[in-house]
Amino acid sequence: MDKEEVVSKNFIEKIIDQDLEEGKYAKIATRFPPEPNGYLHIGHAKSILLNYGLAKKYNGTFNLRFDDTNPMKEKTEFVESIVSDVEWLGAKYDGDIKFASNYFDQMYEAAVLLIKKGKAYVCDLSPEQIREYRGTLTEPGKDSPYRNRSIEENLDLFERMKNGEFEDGSKVLRAKIDMASSNINMRDPIIYRVARMTHHNTGDKWCIYPMYDFAHPIEDAIEGITHSICTLEFEDHRPLYDWVVQEIGYEHPPKQIEFAKLYLTNVITGKRYIKRLVDEGIVDGWDDPRLVTIAALRRRGFTPESIKSFMELVGVTKSNSSNDYAMLEYCIRNDLKPKAPRVMAVLDPIKLVIDNYPEGQVEYLDAMVNMENPDLGYEKVPFERELWIDRDDFMEEPPKKYFRLFPGNEVRLMNAYFVKCVDFEKDENGKVTVVHCTYDPITKNGTGFTGRKVKGTIHWVPVHHCKKVTARLYENLVDEEKGVYNEDGSLNLNPNSLTVIDDCYVEPAIEKYKRGDSFQFVRNGYFCIDTKDSTEDHFVFNRIVSLKSSFKLPKK
Ligand code: ATP
Ligand code: MG
Repeated sequence: MDKEEVVSKNFIEKIIDQDLEEGKYAKIATRFPPEPNGYLHIGHAKSILLNYGLAKKYNGTFNLRFDDTNPMKEKTEFVESIVSDVEWLGAKYDGDIKFASNYFDQMYEAAVLLIKKGKAYVCDLSPEQIREYRGTLTEPGKDSPYRNRSIEENLDLFERMKNGEFEDGSKVLRAKIDMASSNINMRDPIIYRVARMTHHNTGDKWCIYPMYDFAHPIEDAIEGITHSICTLEFEDHRPLYDWVVQEIGYEHPPKQIEFAKLYLTNVITGKRYIKRLVDEGIVDGWDDPRLVTIAALRRRGFTPESIKSFMELVGVTKSNSSNDYAMLEYCIRNDLKPKAPRVMAVLDPIKLVIDNYPEGQVEYLDAMVNMENPDLGYEKVPFERELWIDRDDFMEEPPKKYFRLFPGNEVRLMNAYFVKCVDFEKDENGKVTVVHCTYDPITKNGTGFTGRKVKGTIHWVPVHHCKKVTARLYENLVDEEKGVYNEDGSLNLNPNSLTVIDDCYVEPAIEKYKRGDSFQFVRNGYFCIDTKDSTEDHFVFNRIVSLKSSFKLPKK
């Protein structure tokens, strides 16, 4: 290991180093335990890459386990999307996919064991009473009148709970810990409840279900997980986690470690909030490119590499903070810069006519696919008398330092010739419709030398040899400075989060690419062919990111 790596170890790696050194575990085992109640988002990507990365670095194992102990909100659709997202990120799980629900028998046995040890009891208090008896942060709780039931009675009642003899919510099984604990989680927490719900995996086999805080440590222990990594809100639950694995008597009990969740500025990350946007029809499904679900990021054109390098930049910490969205943009730009073919595309077209270029003539000019990556070779671009250029690249009355087209000025057409503006036409509203130029044949790209210099280079697309496409430009859905919520609790959405441009023109080279491929539209940003809305004949492009950056990598 080189010096650099030693220096950059995060706090979790330091814990693992020590555990291995002390011989606590022979090998490490991590897991990613999503609840299949929604699509994964960029925060989950952090957890996946962290857990997988640690397993890989320490030559350990990494499990993918569905935490499906709450049948209410769970769906097979979510299981499928999660598996494909984890695979897309390149996190390879060991063995089969695991399901917490496959351990229901062992969880039941563990509960029986606790009862036999006098460490759990069946309680008949109503949910309201349980809350009342629990006390507050400043006041201790009160013992339940059912706390001292005999072991035999508890065993009998718990079995009858399982057999469906009691109404939903009428009885619970509670761990017998300490009603006066300063940690409310330790005040006889509920570990099993009666709930008649059909489970997507176990069907109607069970009418009692374990609570998360009881189930999770057992799942980890059964799988031999060594480091159970979760987010900070579980810190106060750790004593209960430790209590469960200790009372059940696992030999090499797993250890819970908490880290800070990933948040992004001006981006909605929580699963609950994303679900609301989807359910209210504000976005076009879980993979709407304006979201930061993994499915949406993938559809927008982000790559697994860009997400990995973003996570490396962000690091792993124990204090909550928000990361700049521009940092994620920086990472995707960096990744695509050498990889993505560059094509000329015009998003806001006006026509340029080269008056002295023969009508009907077409010549094929050479253009490098990517100036920064000569290995990608050359592409032929057809050139003709009529071209589309971007409206921005012509001005009737230019301000100072405007070097593009204006009457009398000469510019370079990218990969082609110098052209000089000689005239222009306007419609009845005063809008420029056509720009007239003349070209100088001797200035052909890479050939003749005139000694003349021009300051501006503009891109173009041949009018009769191009593809018409749709382009979608995005902005963030919310702006924290303007407030994420309105007074009535509704979301204060950015009305410009989506702009659809229907008459864009792209050079014909685009035809040989497929859905999901990404490009740089020169001077306009990186774009990806949408996988959902594109057809064979009509491509829809999502702008992944613009070319300009407001983010600078901090100096080390
Ligand atoms: P959300 O907070 O968005 O509702 P969740 O925590 O309910 O998500 P789970 O399916 O329970 O979603 O999470 C699976 C794993 O992903 C957990 O270990 C959880 O701690 C982790 N995780 C969830 N959100 C983030 C985040 N923003 N940053 C890092 N890890 C996260
Ligand atoms: Mg959760």
